[in-house]
Amino acid sequence: MAEKIIYLNQDSGIPLFGLDFIGIIDRGTNIIELKPLTLCNIKCRYCFVSAGEFRTNFIIDPTYFLEGVRTLIDLKGAYDIEIHIAPYGEIFLYKDLLMLLDLLWQLEGITTISIQTNGLLLTPSLIKSLESVNVTRLNISINTLNEKLAQYLSGCENYDINSLMKNVKLLLESNIDVLIAPVWFPGVNDEDIEDIISFVVEMRTMGYSNLDIQLGIQKYLIYRTGRKLKKIRPKTWGYFYQQLGNLEERYDIKLKLGPHDFNIHDRPLYSIDINEGEILPVTIKAPGRWKNECIGVINELSAVKVLLNSPLEYSDTLLGKNINVKILKSTQYDSIITTYLPY
Ligand code: SF4
Repeated sequence: MAEKIIYLNQDSGIPLFGLDFIGIIDRGTNIIELKPLTLCNIKCRYCFVSAGEFRTNFIIDPTYFLEGVRTLIDLKGAYDIEIHIAPYGEIFLYKDLLMLLDLLWQLEGITTISIQTNGLLLTPSLIKSLESVNVTRLNISINTLNEKLAQYLSGCENYDINSLMKNVKLLLESNIDVLIAPVWFPGVNDEDIEDIISFVVEMRTMGYSNLDIQLGIQKYLIYRTGRKLKKIRPKTWGYFYQQLGNLEERYDIKLKLGPHDFNIHDRPLYSIDINEGEILPVTIKAPGRWKNECIGVINELSAVKVLLNSPLEYSDTLLGKNINVKILKSTQYDSIITTYLPY
């Protein structure tokens, strides 16, 4: 269980931009990515962010998001904007989700709101509520239709695949589009990926369009700070696309999806003019998720993740300190800034 939860709002002094795990992420396209919380209801064995183990969790006040999203829309242009809600955790644990969606739709230029979820908390009444606030699409991570394997992968012995698939079918009857997004773990769910493809093909032959139900198979990637499935040899991107190509032929379905398939296109990026290796003065405002991480503030809009190198660990004595940190990562492709200390 996490030690504490930090709430971000207008008075918290923690900006919305700059962090990878909470807030708003801009990747220089028409998509604005929101991460409203870091809590999850399961503990997948492959979770690339190790959700469920954070020492500190974070939740954002829905009204706080608005000013940041408005700033980005002003920068990007008020047309064809997609809001993609994709927390390092499970979105249906966010009690203010419906309010957030209502508020977002009031902003000019938003045409799509998509949400990433593991789907396990879906119920018929939640689906109705999501429909009533005009959710455009749910991206649901389903890696297998086999209950035992699903339970193993999710680390959750109550994982009920039948109930989840019933809810997927209810979604197909609603105005909400569905994108099934399995991760392909080579040697673990090879046949399961084909089962999922067959399911999507079957739904399409029943009359659902390729917008009603989409399929986005993802490559298993291993991250340093993530949990890892045992005994899996990561495959190359070349191998992955070759396998997708084979399956495309076998099932006569498009599986290699790119930005165009989701109407993603370049737009101005919100960024701060700093480069890797530079020294930057920040004020430490909060702990991070881990004991070797904290949040530094550059200005009203931008925070940075500060990695504390051994033997330094976070303690509240750091709070409020003005400290110089060194930039580890800051690119022209996104708004995330990672720094470290001591250097
Ligand atoms: S992979 Fe997603 S659903 Fe699974 S533990 Fe991580 S955040 Fe939660």
